[in-house]
Amino acid sequence: MTPSLRPGQKICDHAGCRKAGEHRAPKDKSLSDYYWFCADHARAYNQKWDFYQGLTDYEMEKEIRRSLIGDRPSWPLGSWQAAERLLRRKAWQDWREDSTGDGGYSGPERPMTAAERVEAEALAVLELAPPVTFAFIRARYKELVKKHHPDTNGGSREAEERLKIINQAYTTLKTIHLPQTD
Ligand SMILES: [Zn+2]
Repeated sequence: MTPSLRPGQKICDHAGCRKAGEHRAPKDKSLSDYYWFCADHARAYNQKWDFYQGLTDYEMEKEIRRSLIGDRPSWPLGSWQAAERLLRRKAWQDWREDSTGDGGYSGPERPMTAAERVEAEALAVLELAPPVTFAFIRARYKELVKKHHPDTNGGSREAEERLKIINQAYTTLKTIHLPQTD
């Protein structure tokens, strides 16, 4: 049953909940977008985030790696801004799954497939998060190649290694987005 809502009042954003969404909860650190929850679901959502809020960026990034791709350290530290968005998307999915109990998703969010995870990981190396067009990926790749090229970094070994990882990620993304090319 839908309870009576005041004009302009939102329904709780939690899947299946029909209570009034009177409590605002930020979707991410930018605080530019919000969910609206009833009191119970606002409390549950906040508890979920407390864990991540206590972490430093470095710890957060380690958590992201574990959460998305296991312990395999395959992307360089420092690209965590894009990865953070992935983590938040995944944690949001987990939380909805936990609290609805049926594993069903009524909203636009759904779990990533293995292929999407590969893509998300490669995008994170380029400090991007899906969805992005290939034109955008290529532009970012060119930018990063310029930035990390050993010639512009005094022949730095670290820059060379970083560039190698960026090249691998770009090759992966090219295969995904342009499967017919060589
Ligand atoms: Zn609710």
